[in-house]
Amino acid sequence: MTRLAIVGAMHEEIAALRPCLAGLRTERRAGRDFHFGGLDGHDVILVRCGIGKVAAAITTAVLLDAYDASALLFTGVAGGLGDGVRVGDIVVATTLLQHDMNAEPLFPRWEVPLTGRARFDADPAWSARLARAGHALAATNAHARAATLHQGLVVSGDRFVATHAESDQLLAVLPDALAVEMEGAAVAQVCHDFARPFAVVRTISDRADDAAHGDFQRFVRDVAAPYSRDVVRAALAA
Ligand code: SAH
Repeated sequence: MTRLAIVGAMHEEIAALRPCLAGLRTERRAGRDFHFGGLDGHDVILVRCGIGKVAAAITTAVLLDAYDASALLFTGVAGGLGDGVRVGDIVVATTLLQHDMNAEPLFPRWEVPLTGRARFDADPAWSARLARAGHALAATNAHARAATLHQGLVVSGDRFVATHAESDQLLAVLPDALAVEMEGAAVAQVCHDFARPFAVVRTISDRADDAAHGDFQRFVRDVAAPYSRDVVRAALAA
């Protein structure tokens, strides 16, 4: 039986999905609550991984190894970097990179040492399902009025990017980056090592600029939960 892991970093990113699980059963491991249940015809494990790359990597390893998840969907919020990536928009990652990985001059900038790569690609099939779901949601859903769906590079690092100066700096060196967050590229690296498919969908909570802190808190409080639920459920049903 295939088992689909659904992961978010914060409570709000998974809260609205939990009541949707049929036959809910919870197991605690490595300080996290893993919720098992049925969702729209899928056997699902839902978990809040915590914030940052290490928290995301630990959780992903447990999901893939101890619980044998066959694929992983990450859902959450992110800061918009690319031109025209606005609050409320949806970004589906085609590839992910750790923007704070730098072992120069031993390895090229951003390359994960000894892997020979900086970018880790998301699964095209799951990403396409999320993109179709995100597109439909952007067009019809009340939380996502006038929103746009974007697909491309998402960058991750252990920093909440909350100044114009820092987001400009990121864009100057990574001009194709659409969004910045703190977990996706770590999940991507672990899934790559386990050779399991994964996809990342992020709704834009802020523009990673000087207003990011306030925008982020408002978005997470008011819309992150239903937004996450609706895009994931639409992707599962597709
Ligand atoms: N709980 C703290 C910090 C949240 S960190 C607070 O309330 O301020 C931000 C979380 O949202 C991370 O899980 C990250 O993946 C995502 N995120 C949203 N906007 C971001 C940004 N501008 N920079 C980095 N991560 C961002």
